[in-house]
Amino acid sequence: MSDSYKRDIKAALNDSFLRRTLDKFAVEYRAGRDRVFSEVDERGLIRRIADVKDAAAQHTEELYARFKEEAERRGAVVHRAKNAAEAREIIAAIAKENGVKSVVKSKSMTAEEIGLNAYLGAEGVEVNETDLGEWIVQLRRERPSHMVMPAIHLSRGQVADEFEKATGREQDHENVDKLVKTARAELRPKFHAADMGISGANFLIAETGAITIVTNEGNGRLVNTLPRIHVALAGLDKLVPTLDDALTALQVLPRNATGQRITSYVTFIDGATACAKSPSGRKILHIVLLDNGRTAIAKDPLFSQIYRCVRCGACANVCPVFRLVGGHRMGHVYVGAIGLVLTYLYHDRDAAKKLCQNCVGCGACKDVCSGGIDLPRLIQEIRARFAKEDGEPMMSRLARYAMRNRTVFHRLLKFMRFAQKPFSGRDGFVRHLPMALFGKHGFRTLPALAPKAFRELWPSLRRNVENPRFRIALFAGCAQDFALPHQLVAAMKVFRYFGVEVDFPMGQTCCGLPLVALGEKDAALDVARQNITAFAGKYDAIVTLCASCASHLRHGYPKAVGAEAEEFSARVMDFSSFVHDKLDVTEKDFARLGWKVAYHASCHLCRELGVKDAPRALISAAAHYTPTPEEETCCGFGGSWSVKFPEISAELMRKKLDNVCSADATHLALDCPGCTIQLRGGADQGKRAIKVVHVAEVLAAALESGEKDDNEQ
Ligand code: SF4
Ligand code: SF4
Repeated sequence: MSDSYKRDIKAALNDSFLRRTLDKFAVEYRAGRDRVFSEVDERGLIRRIADVKDAAAQHTEELYARFKEEAERRGAVVHRAKNAAEAREIIAAIAKENGVKSVVKSKSMTAEEIGLNAYLGAEGVEVNETDLGEWIVQLRRERPSHMVMPAIHLSRGQVADEFEKATGREQDHENVDKLVKTARAELRPKFHAADMGISGANFLIAETGAITIVTNEGNGRLVNTLPRIHVALAGLDKLVPTLDDALTALQVLPRNATGQRITSYVTFIDGATACAKSPSGRKILHIVLLDNGRTAIAKDPLFSQIYRCVRCGACANVCPVFRLVGGHRMGHVYVGAIGLVLTYLYHDRDAAKKLCQNCVGCGACKDVCSGGIDLPRLIQEIRARFAKEDGEPMMSRLARYAMRNRTVFHRLLKFMRFAQKPFSGRDGFVRHLPMALFGKHGFRTLPALAPKAFRELWPSLRRNVENPRFRIALFAGCAQDFALPHQLVAAMKVFRYFGVEVDFPMGQTCCGLPLVALGEKDAALDVARQNITAFAGKYDAIVTLCASCASHLRHGYPKAVGAEAEEFSARVMDFSSFVHDKLDVTEKDFARLGWKVAYHASCHLCRELGVKDAPRALISAAAHYTPTPEEETCCGFGGSWSVKFPEISAELMRKKLDNVCSADATHLALDCPGCTIQLRGGADQGKRAIKVVHVAEVLAAALESGEKDDNEQ
């Protein structure tokens, strides 16, 4: 990461206005989104959009031909541009042919993609943005920092300053209504004077040749009605077969973009309408469809998913990194998760290389995406491609060598356990190193490797159970096996109490997820096969206490290994789901603890595996579940990501712990050793009065202690 980019990120983190605004927006957006999606079948609609757009990607040529025929039958002229340069030239030629001197423009990300304003400016055409946010960023000569709210990064004071410069008149720095009136007063004459209006289009409907424009400000309608010429610019990915398809997407787009059921204006334009200003009496309507790599991408088995994007911006709205650093550091032309991918595909590979590192892989974007695009997977693939192009770094080579061979890997961990002895305290943390050595990484205390790994404890823990209810195999994962074995010991108590016989296949090794993150696909495949062989026995389930391992074993293995992994993966369960769903555990099984237990939902568990209720129900059965805000927001661990971005990681962690502490919880329970390392280390470093435990530890404590709850005595 370059020094200037690091400085840029630091500046964003120190921008208290940006932080406050994006924080407030993220919380309000979530609440609004949940409200409006509760009225519709969210998953069903997203699936339908994905199906329609996937089919459109495969039939772009047919849809384009139909659209062109229908639109031209209704008086439009349809152009197709191979790339950004061609699109700019087409629009500049239309302007020249018609003697255009001034243009009013409504928001169009495709116009940003092709750098239209600068080009037309150089051709002597004055372009005025008329969307309020776009006009503000145009005055500041900036890029939009969000696809839907281009000026979200600016305070009213900064806007007032810009308006003072633009108008030469003093502005009220506090009154937003007055600032809006200033914008209206400035822009209205420009609409009347303009020869040409340029807009984007949200959908291009092939069956009717109509375009759909979705906006919240009236400027869009003025742009396409007042001037005698209207140019609509859109990517080929905006083609949909029918009006019905556009209406389906319209049920999701505003809900996902701004938490609205519908935007203030939804405009359908089918053909050149009557226009008094035009010499022919009809509007001069040009529709420019941009390829710019889209048709090639449509053929890519993985990246063709980007056709599903309806540019709702939700992937930015929920991204924890965007929330901290803003769109200018989490995007290029397009922002948020899709911005990272499109930067790589359309714009600037150097910028993409830098930006794709930002992603912590929390999966929040995939969870809300209007088209169900697997954005984290695309970002990971881009990172893997860059890693391959750059040649293998030493870190990857070492990891591949060590992890591929279980014996070598485990010997290495045992050596590290020996080597850390002078530095580790009795409480499971590395204590005796000066904090100065950690620099920006000192925000959390590092865990020490345990004196005995779980696999070394196993011979003393294994028991035969008479008439077991289930016979399971325990998958430990490296972190719990070697650093946090007490979590597995707690789970053993729970299993034994509920009549579950447990086996611990010694041939198991790392799940391979860290290798995937390093782009070491072959080594990851090797370890996957080793684990599948190790767990070949007859088990009712393969249970793991690590959400990340569970997600990778369940979803990653079939993708990487294929059919050979299916039987294995189908048996994988996370601890909470197994105990809750299979053992039917209820509060009658426990002497309820007096602990007030908050819950952190690890990203892999709540999003990748969709497990939401089971851990909360278990906590409620064994103790006092204490809900806290934003339980499903990433804690900022992300494996090696937290080492690369310590400042961002520390902020995410701090926020999470602040929320827990402000709810007065005594314990924070979770389902993931990575989150444990982050939050336990952070709580220790910040001297927070909170104990971070695995859900299994809550249950084991409730089974063991018989401690009576003060509130229930
Ligand atoms: S996976 Fe998380 S961090 Fe990465 S882009 Fe998506 S929301 Fe942002
Ligand atoms: S990728 Fe998905 S969430 Fe992001 S803008 Fe596109 S449709 Fe919306």
